[in-house]
Amino acid sequence: MIPGSFAYHRPKSLTEAVSLLADLGEEARALAGGHSLIPMMKLRLATPEHLVDLAAIADLKGIRAEGGDIVIGAMTTQHELVASDLLSAKVPILRETSLVIADPQVRYVGTLGGNVANGDPGNDMPAVMMCLDAAYTVLGKQGERRISARQFYRGAYATALAAGEIVTEIRVPMPATGHGHAYEKLKRKVGDYATAAAAVVLTMSGGKVASCAIGLTNVAETPLLAEEAAKIVVGSSLDAATAKKAAAAAEAITSPASDSRGSAEYRTKMAGVMLSRALARAKSLAA
Ligand SMILES: Cc1cc2nc3c(=O)[nH]c(=O)nc-3n(C[C@H](O)[C@H](O)[C@H](O)COP(=O)(O)OP(=O)(O)OC[C@H]3O[C@@H](n4cnc5c(N)ncnc54)[C@H](O)[C@@H]3O)c2cc1C
Repeated sequence: MIPGSFAYHRPKSLTEAVSLLADLGEEARALAGGHSLIPMMKLRLATPEHLVDLAAIADLKGIRAEGGDIVIGAMTTQHELVASDLLSAKVPILRETSLVIADPQVRYVGTLGGNVANGDPGNDMPAVMMCLDAAYTVLGKQGERRISARQFYRGAYATALAAGEIVTEIRVPMPATGHGHAYEKLKRKVGDYATAAAAVVLTMSGGKVASCAIGLTNVAETPLLAEEAAKIVVGSSLDAATAKKAAAAAEAITSPASDSRGSAEYRTKMAGVMLSRALARAKSLAA
């Protein structure tokens, strides 16, 4: 339970952090809240020789509205997401999701950037970011680029980040006023990762679903965007039969592993159940 030895670096600017990561190469890892990386190091599943701590970089903090987007600095903690009035008003699913991540102790330190960059299919924010069609701004020695959350996840712990790149901010298009939302997560106990979870953001017009996006957590090697399920829902009044069809379509794209949280069959079924609950709650919240 003791990590291997490593050198610790604490850059004060983004330029310095990016140069350090480029110069130190493959053996260096960015350190954010450390609540995924340090446990992996203790288990010797990660053995970086250099940690580049992003904590002293002021540019990576904060939540602001910019045009039609909410922009969240990568080093913003999950607790700060919970406490943000701006998020509560404009993108309440982010507050709701933060509140089901781990426990307050983890949320005080764990960051949004670390949660989305980690690539663990058990992390809750990636599916929500896919559902919201968010984009990640990333910076490396070659410059800055933007990657859609929907294109970011390639496999378990494999993302579109190139070596030495860091996520600097998460840009979330503000959902329409009056949208409905829900993040339903089944977990064995408080603080646990999801057995299965579903995120829904939808709008209603004249009693029918006008738009809908659905994300699924921890039922495949990557978070999933359930596009077929969302198509089934759009244009309907979201009656019980439609919700059932959508749940079946979502279940069909899952491929969870059997593990201590349940068999693959159980976790697949639970993805459908979480989606049914999320659809019903999102509909009830939509104006
Ligand atoms: C007991 C416990 C329970 C937990 N339960 C949950 C849960 O239910 N749901 C959930 O989603 N998470 C859970 N977590 C994980 C927690 O949310 C972590 O904080 C989060 O996964 C990673 O954020 P971090 O800031 O701690 O990142 P770190 O652990 O510092 O980093 C994680 C990885 O991301 C990379 N990284 C970090 N920041 C950046 C960046 N800006 N750019 C590029 N790469 C970066 C690091 O190099 C590392 O590979 C739990 C953790 C613990 C300890």
